[in-house]
Amino acid sequence: MNLIFETDKAGLQKFYEEIIAKFETYAPVEKFEKFDYKRVSKLEECNPDSPIPSTMSVKPLFFPKTAKVMKFQEDSSGTTVSETDEDPLAGKRVILGVKHCDARGLQVLDEVYKWDYIDTDYKKRRENTIILSTRCDKAGTQCFCTSLDYDVENSDAHDVRIVNGLDGKIYIQSVTEKGENFLKENSSQQSVVGSQQSVEEIKKHYKSFESSFRLKMNYKEVNEKLQKLFDSPEFDPVSSNCISCNTCAFICPTCHCFKISDEKIKDTGVRYKSYDSCNNGYFTLMAGGHNPRPAKYRRWRQRAMHKFVYYKERFGVNLCVGCGHCAISCPVNISIFDVVNQVAK
Ligand code: SF4
Ligand code: SF4
Repeated sequence: MNLIFETDKAGLQKFYEEIIAKFETYAPVEKFEKFDYKRVSKLEECNPDSPIPSTMSVKPLFFPKTAKVMKFQEDSSGTTVSETDEDPLAGKRVILGVKHCDARGLQVLDEVYKWDYIDTDYKKRRENTIILSTRCDKAGTQCFCTSLDYDVENSDAHDVRIVNGLDGKIYIQSVTEKGENFLKENSSQQSVVGSQQSVEEIKKHYKSFESSFRLKMNYKEVNEKLQKLFDSPEFDPVSSNCISCNTCAFICPTCHCFKISDEKIKDTGVRYKSYDSCNNGYFTLMAGGHNPRPAKYRRWRQRAMHKFVYYKERFGVNLCVGCGHCAISCPVNISIFDVVNQVAK
Protein backbone atom coordinates (compact mmCIF):
# COMPACT_ATOMS: atom_id res chain seq x y z
CA MET A 1 0.00 0.00 0.00
CA ASN A 2 1.25 3.48 -0.79
CA LEU A 3 1.48 6.18 1.84
CA ILE A 4 -1.96 7.71 2.49
CA PHE A 5 -3.06 10.52 4.77
CA GLU A 6 -6.64 11.32 5.65
CA THR A 7 -7.35 14.97 6.06
CA ASP A 8 -10.00 17.66 5.65
CA LYS A 9 -10.22 20.94 3.76
CA ALA A 10 -8.24 22.87 6.39
CA GLY A 11 -5.57 20.13 6.51
CA LEU A 12 -5.26 20.13 2.74
CA GLN A 13 -4.88 23.90 2.69
CA LYS A 14 -2.06 23.69 5.26
CA PHE A 15 -0.40 20.98 3.14
CA TYR A 16 -0.53 23.22 0.08
CA GLU A 17 0.67 26.26 2.05
CA GLU A 18 3.65 24.30 3.34
CA ILE A 19 4.57 23.30 -0.23
CA ILE A 20 4.15 26.80 -1.65
CA ALA A 21 6.33 28.27 1.12
CA LYS A 22 9.09 25.73 0.47
CA PHE A 23 9.17 25.14 -3.29
CA GLU A 24 8.92 26.88 -6.61
CA THR A 25 5.24 26.02 -7.09
CA TYR A 26 2.87 26.15 -10.06
CA ALA A 27 -0.89 25.69 -9.91
CA PRO A 28 -4.11 26.44 -11.84
CA VAL A 29 -4.77 30.19 -11.72
CA GLU A 30 -8.11 31.60 -12.84
CA LYS A 31 -8.44 34.41 -15.36
CA PHE A 32 -11.74 35.21 -17.09
CA GLU A 33 -13.23 31.91 -15.85
CA LYS A 34 -10.39 29.92 -17.45
CA PHE A 35 -7.58 28.15 -15.65
CA ASP A 36 -3.94 28.06 -16.65
CA TYR A 37 -0.86 26.83 -14.72
CA LYS A 38 1.14 29.75 -13.29
CA ARG A 39 3.89 30.27 -10.73
CA VAL A 40 2.25 31.07 -7.38
CA SER A 41 3.58 32.44 -4.10
CA LYS A 42 0.37 32.20 -2.04
CA LEU A 43 -2.46 29.69 -1.93
CA GLU A 44 -5.02 32.49 -2.42
CA GLU A 45 -3.63 33.08 -5.92
CA CYS A 46 -4.63 29.66 -7.22
CA ASN A 47 -7.16 26.86 -7.05
CA PRO A 48 -5.46 23.44 -7.04
CA ASP A 49 -8.89 21.81 -6.64
CA SER A 50 -10.41 23.61 -9.59
CA PRO A 51 -13.40 21.60 -10.82
CA ILE A 52 -12.87 22.97 -14.32
CA PRO A 53 -10.11 21.43 -16.43
CA SER A 54 -7.41 24.00 -17.17
CA THR A 55 -7.79 25.62 -20.58
CA MET A 56 -4.12 25.22 -21.36
CA SER A 57 -2.48 21.91 -20.52
CA VAL A 58 0.53 21.59 -18.23
CA LYS A 59 2.72 20.93 -21.31
CA PRO A 60 4.25 24.45 -21.56
CA LEU A 61 5.97 23.97 -18.19
CA PHE A 62 8.00 21.19 -19.86
CA PHE A 63 7.89 22.16 -23.53
CA PRO A 64 7.61 25.98 -23.64
CA LYS A 65 5.38 27.63 -26.24
CA THR A 66 8.41 29.49 -27.49
CA ALA A 67 12.02 29.38 -26.33
CA LYS A 68 15.27 31.00 -27.35
CA VAL A 69 17.61 28.34 -28.63
CA MET A 70 20.68 30.51 -29.29
CA LYS A 71 21.89 33.99 -30.24
CA PHE A 72 24.03 34.78 -33.23
CA GLN A 73 26.12 37.69 -34.44
CA GLU A 74 27.37 38.16 -37.95
CA ASP A 75 30.35 40.21 -39.05
CA SER A 76 32.90 40.18 -41.86
CA SER A 77 34.71 37.18 -40.33
CA GLY A 78 31.54 35.01 -40.23
CA THR A 79 28.84 34.10 -37.69
CA THR A 80 29.40 33.77 -33.96
CA VAL A 81 26.90 31.69 -32.02
CA SER A 82 26.33 32.09 -28.28
CA GLU A 83 24.07 30.79 -25.52
CA THR A 84 20.92 32.78 -24.79
CA ASP A 85 20.63 34.65 -21.52
CA GLU A 86 17.60 32.51 -20.60
CA ASP A 87 18.06 29.56 -18.26
CA PRO A 88 15.85 26.95 -19.91
CA LEU A 89 16.22 24.50 -17.05
CA ALA A 90 13.87 24.51 -14.12
CA GLY A 91 15.13 24.00 -10.60
CA LYS A 92 13.27 21.63 -8.29
CA ARG A 93 9.61 22.52 -8.47
CA VAL A 94 6.13 21.27 -7.64
CA ILE A 95 2.95 21.49 -9.71
CA LEU A 96 -0.37 21.33 -7.87
CA GLY A 97 -3.80 20.51 -9.22
CA VAL A 98 -2.70 18.69 -12.38
CA LYS A 99 -5.58 16.68 -13.85
CA HIS A 100 -4.89 12.99 -14.39
CA CYS A 101 -5.24 13.31 -18.17
CA ASP A 102 -2.75 16.17 -18.27
CA ALA A 103 -0.24 14.18 -16.23
CA ARG A 104 -0.75 11.20 -18.54
CA GLY A 105 0.00 13.55 -21.45
CA LEU A 106 3.52 13.97 -20.05
CA GLN A 107 4.07 10.20 -19.99
CA VAL A 108 3.02 10.11 -23.64
CA LEU A 109 5.40 12.97 -24.50
CA ASP A 110 8.25 11.20 -22.68
CA GLU A 111 8.20 8.54 -25.41
CA VAL A 112 9.09 10.96 -28.16
CA TYR A 113 11.53 12.98 -26.07
CA LYS A 114 13.59 9.94 -25.14
CA TRP A 115 13.42 8.39 -28.62
CA ASP A 116 16.18 8.96 -31.20
CA TYR A 117 17.30 12.22 -29.62
CA ILE A 118 17.17 12.98 -25.91
CA ASP A 119 15.94 16.51 -25.26
CA THR A 120 18.02 17.30 -22.18
CA ASP A 121 16.04 20.42 -21.22
CA TYR A 122 12.78 18.45 -21.24
CA LYS A 123 14.38 15.56 -19.36
CA LYS A 124 15.73 17.82 -16.65
CA ARG A 125 12.38 19.55 -16.23
CA ARG A 126 10.67 16.16 -15.86
CA GLU A 127 13.21 14.89 -13.34
CA ASN A 128 13.04 18.08 -11.26
CA THR A 129 9.26 18.23 -11.03
CA ILE A 130 6.90 16.67 -8.50
CA ILE A 131 3.35 16.37 -9.81
CA LEU A 132 0.36 16.46 -7.47
CA SER A 133 -2.91 15.57 -9.16
CA THR A 134 -6.39 16.33 -7.94
CA ARG A 135 -8.72 13.60 -9.14
CA CYS A 136 -11.76 14.99 -10.92
CA ASP A 137 -15.02 14.36 -9.07
CA LYS A 138 -16.94 14.10 -12.31
CA ALA A 139 -16.26 14.15 -16.03
CA GLY A 140 -16.55 17.34 -18.06
CA THR A 141 -18.81 17.41 -21.11
CA GLN A 142 -15.90 16.73 -23.54
CA CYS A 143 -13.87 14.31 -21.38
CA PHE A 144 -13.30 10.72 -22.53
CA CYS A 145 -10.09 9.65 -20.75
CA THR A 146 -11.65 6.43 -19.41
CA SER A 147 -12.33 5.22 -22.98
CA LEU A 148 -8.70 5.10 -24.04
CA ASP A 149 -5.75 2.75 -23.69
CA TYR A 150 -4.59 3.64 -20.19
CA ASP A 151 -5.64 2.77 -16.69
CA VAL A 152 -6.95 6.07 -15.33
CA GLU A 153 -7.77 4.65 -11.91
CA ASN A 154 -4.28 3.32 -11.25
CA SER A 155 -2.37 5.88 -13.28
CA ASP A 156 1.19 6.52 -12.11
CA ALA A 157 1.56 9.64 -14.27
CA HIS A 158 1.51 11.82 -11.14
CA ASP A 159 3.54 11.41 -7.96
CA VAL A 160 0.80 12.16 -5.45
CA ARG A 161 -2.98 12.12 -5.85
CA ILE A 162 -5.56 14.05 -3.87
CA VAL A 163 -9.03 12.52 -3.73
CA ASN A 164 -12.21 14.08 -2.30
CA GLY A 165 -13.73 10.98 -0.74
CA LEU A 166 -17.48 10.43 -0.91
CA ASP A 167 -17.31 10.08 2.89
CA GLY A 168 -16.33 13.76 3.24
CA LYS A 169 -12.67 13.02 3.95
CA ILE A 170 -9.83 14.12 1.72
CA TYR A 171 -7.15 11.54 0.90
CA ILE A 172 -3.56 12.39 0.02
CA GLN A 173 -1.94 9.31 -1.50
CA SER A 174 1.57 8.78 -2.85
CA VAL A 175 1.69 6.99 -6.19
CA THR A 176 5.38 6.90 -7.12
CA GLU A 177 8.51 6.48 -5.00
CA LYS A 178 9.28 10.14 -5.69
CA GLY A 179 5.81 10.99 -4.36
CA GLU A 180 6.26 8.85 -1.28
CA ASN A 181 9.55 10.54 -0.38
CA PHE A 182 7.96 13.91 -1.03
CA LEU A 183 5.06 13.13 1.32
CA LYS A 184 7.41 11.89 4.05
CA GLU A 185 9.28 15.18 3.94
CA ASN A 186 6.37 17.57 3.37
CA SER A 187 3.30 16.43 5.22
CA SER A 188 4.13 17.53 8.75
CA GLN A 189 0.58 18.85 9.20
CA GLN A 190 -0.99 15.48 8.44
CA SER A 191 -1.25 13.14 11.41
CA VAL A 192 -3.97 10.67 10.41
CA VAL A 193 -2.37 7.88 8.44
CA GLY A 194 -4.77 6.14 6.07
CA SER A 195 -5.79 2.49 6.27
CA GLN A 196 -7.29 -0.19 4.02
CA GLN A 197 -10.58 1.67 4.53
CA SER A 198 -9.02 4.73 2.86
CA VAL A 199 -8.06 2.59 -0.15
CA GLU A 200 -11.68 1.41 -0.39
CA GLU A 201 -12.96 4.99 -0.21
CA ILE A 202 -10.56 6.04 -3.00
CA LYS A 203 -11.91 3.17 -5.13
CA LYS A 204 -15.50 4.22 -4.41
CA HIS A 205 -14.69 7.76 -5.49
CA TYR A 206 -13.25 6.42 -8.75
CA LYS A 207 -16.35 4.34 -9.48
CA SER A 208 -18.55 7.39 -9.00
CA PHE A 209 -16.26 9.47 -11.26
CA GLU A 210 -16.20 6.74 -13.91
CA SER A 211 -19.98 6.56 -14.04
CA SER A 212 -20.26 10.30 -14.79
CA PHE A 213 -18.91 10.13 -18.37
CA ARG A 214 -21.16 11.28 -21.18
CA LEU A 215 -18.63 10.33 -23.89
CA LYS A 216 -17.61 6.71 -24.27
CA MET A 217 -15.95 4.88 -27.13
CA ASN A 218 -14.64 1.43 -27.88
CA TYR A 219 -11.00 2.45 -28.29
CA LYS A 220 -9.74 -0.90 -29.59
CA GLU A 221 -12.39 -1.01 -32.29
CA VAL A 222 -11.79 2.61 -33.35
CA ASN A 223 -8.03 2.03 -33.47
CA GLU A 224 -8.41 -1.14 -35.57
CA LYS A 225 -10.90 0.41 -38.00
CA LEU A 226 -8.85 3.58 -38.52
CA GLN A 227 -5.82 1.51 -39.49
CA LYS A 228 -7.73 0.54 -42.66
CA LEU A 229 -9.34 3.91 -43.36
CA PHE A 230 -6.54 6.08 -44.70
CA ASP A 231 -8.51 6.62 -47.93
CA SER A 232 -11.85 7.21 -46.26
CA PRO A 233 -13.84 10.08 -47.87
CA GLU A 234 -15.25 10.78 -44.39
CA PHE A 235 -12.18 12.84 -43.44
CA ASP A 236 -13.42 15.62 -45.71
CA PRO A 237 -16.85 16.40 -44.18
CA VAL A 238 -15.61 16.05 -40.60
CA SER A 239 -12.86 18.60 -41.14
CA SER A 240 -14.43 21.02 -43.63
CA ASN A 241 -15.26 23.66 -40.98
CA CYS A 242 -11.70 23.80 -39.62
CA ILE A 243 -10.19 27.29 -39.97
CA SER A 244 -6.66 25.96 -39.36
CA CYS A 245 -6.16 28.19 -36.32
CA ASN A 246 -4.03 25.49 -34.59
CA THR A 247 -5.59 26.13 -31.19
CA CYS A 248 -6.29 22.41 -30.77
CA ALA A 249 -2.62 21.51 -31.14
CA PHE A 250 -1.29 24.35 -29.01
CA ILE A 251 -3.44 23.50 -26.03
CA CYS A 252 -3.20 19.72 -26.42
CA PRO A 253 -1.12 17.99 -23.71
CA THR A 254 0.48 15.64 -26.23
CA CYS A 255 1.00 17.58 -29.50
CA HIS A 256 4.71 18.25 -29.83
CA CYS A 257 5.45 19.67 -33.29
CA PHE A 258 7.62 22.76 -33.34
CA LYS A 259 9.30 25.06 -35.82
CA ILE A 260 12.67 26.78 -35.74
CA SER A 261 12.81 30.40 -36.83
CA ASP A 262 15.51 33.06 -36.88
CA GLU A 263 14.72 36.67 -36.07
CA LYS A 264 17.41 39.09 -37.05
CA ILE A 265 17.88 42.84 -36.73
CA LYS A 266 20.88 44.07 -38.69
CA ASP A 267 23.71 41.65 -37.78
CA THR A 268 22.30 40.27 -34.54
CA GLY A 269 19.71 37.58 -34.22
CA VAL A 270 17.98 34.99 -32.06
CA ARG A 271 16.93 31.49 -33.03
CA TYR A 272 13.54 30.43 -31.59
CA LYS A 273 11.85 27.07 -31.13
CA SER A 274 8.06 27.59 -31.12
CA TYR A 275 4.92 25.47 -31.29
CA ASP A 276 3.71 24.45 -34.73
CA SER A 277 0.88 22.24 -35.90
CA CYS A 278 0.07 19.77 -38.66
CA ASN A 279 -3.13 21.78 -39.22
CA ASN A 280 -1.04 24.59 -40.68
CA GLY A 281 -1.36 24.70 -44.47
CA TYR A 282 2.40 25.25 -44.82
CA PHE A 283 3.42 22.60 -42.27
CA THR A 284 4.58 20.11 -44.90
CA LEU A 285 5.52 22.66 -47.56
CA MET A 286 8.88 21.66 -49.01
CA ALA A 287 11.65 23.97 -50.16
CA GLY A 288 10.94 23.07 -53.80
CA GLY A 289 7.31 24.20 -53.47
CA HIS A 290 5.61 20.77 -53.25
CA ASN A 291 3.12 20.29 -50.42
CA PRO A 292 1.92 16.71 -49.84
CA ARG A 293 -0.93 17.93 -47.63
CA PRO A 294 -2.42 20.88 -49.49
CA ALA A 295 -6.02 20.04 -48.53
CA LYS A 296 -7.57 20.48 -45.12
CA TYR A 297 -8.93 16.92 -44.99
CA ARG A 298 -5.43 15.53 -45.52
CA ARG A 299 -4.11 17.58 -42.62
CA TRP A 300 -6.98 16.52 -40.34
CA ARG A 301 -6.50 12.90 -41.43
CA GLN A 302 -2.87 13.19 -40.36
CA ARG A 303 -3.94 14.61 -36.98
CA ALA A 304 -6.49 11.87 -36.35
CA MET A 305 -4.28 9.04 -37.60
CA HIS A 306 -1.22 10.27 -35.69
CA LYS A 307 -3.30 10.51 -32.51
CA PHE A 308 -5.10 7.17 -32.84
CA VAL A 309 -2.90 4.94 -35.01
CA TYR A 310 0.69 5.97 -35.86
CA TYR A 311 1.97 6.94 -32.42
CA LYS A 312 0.46 3.80 -30.94
CA GLU A 313 2.23 1.70 -33.59
CA ARG A 314 5.58 3.34 -32.91
CA PHE A 315 5.52 3.82 -29.14
CA GLY A 316 2.73 1.57 -27.86
CA VAL A 317 0.70 4.46 -26.39
CA ASN A 318 -2.11 6.54 -27.82
CA LEU A 319 -1.30 10.16 -28.67
CA CYS A 320 -4.63 11.37 -27.31
CA VAL A 321 -5.40 11.19 -23.60
CA GLY A 322 -9.08 12.14 -23.87
CA CYS A 323 -8.83 15.44 -22.00
CA GLY A 324 -11.25 17.24 -24.32
CA HIS A 325 -9.22 20.49 -24.20
CA CYS A 326 -9.28 20.74 -28.01
CA ALA A 327 -13.04 20.37 -28.33
CA ILE A 328 -13.67 22.97 -25.61
CA SER A 329 -11.42 25.55 -27.26
CA CYS A 330 -12.06 24.93 -30.97
CA PRO A 331 -13.75 28.04 -32.43
CA VAL A 332 -15.80 25.89 -34.84
CA ASN A 333 -16.64 23.09 -32.38
CA ILE A 334 -14.65 20.28 -33.94
CA SER A 335 -14.12 17.42 -31.51
CA ILE A 336 -11.51 14.73 -32.09
CA PHE A 337 -13.83 12.29 -30.34
CA ASP A 338 -16.49 12.93 -33.00
CA VAL A 339 -13.97 12.88 -35.85
CA VAL A 340 -12.48 9.46 -35.09
CA ASN A 341 -15.83 7.93 -34.19
CA GLN A 342 -17.54 9.28 -37.30
CA VAL A 343 -14.78 8.10 -39.62
CA ALA A 344 -14.62 4.71 -37.92
CA LYS A 345 -18.41 4.36 -38.18
S1 SF4 B 1 -9.00 24.36 -33.08
FE1 SF4 B 1 -10.64 23.76 -34.51
S2 SF4 B 1 -10.55 25.28 -36.18
FE2 SF4 B 1 -8.61 25.44 -35.01
S3 SF4 B 1 -7.20 24.07 -36.14
FE3 SF4 B 1 -8.12 22.85 -34.48
S4 SF4 B 1 -9.91 21.85 -35.44
FE4 SF4 B 1 -9.29 23.54 -36.81
S1 SF4 C 1 -6.34 15.56 -29.11
FE1 SF4 C 1 -7.76 16.79 -27.87
S2 SF4 C 1 -8.68 15.30 -26.44
FE2 SF4 C 1 -6.84 14.32 -27.31
S3 SF4 C 1 -5.19 14.81 -25.84
FE3 SF4 C 1 -5.14 16.42 -27.42
S4 SF4 C 1 -6.43 18.08 -26.59
FE4 SF4 C 1 -6.88 16.22 -25.38
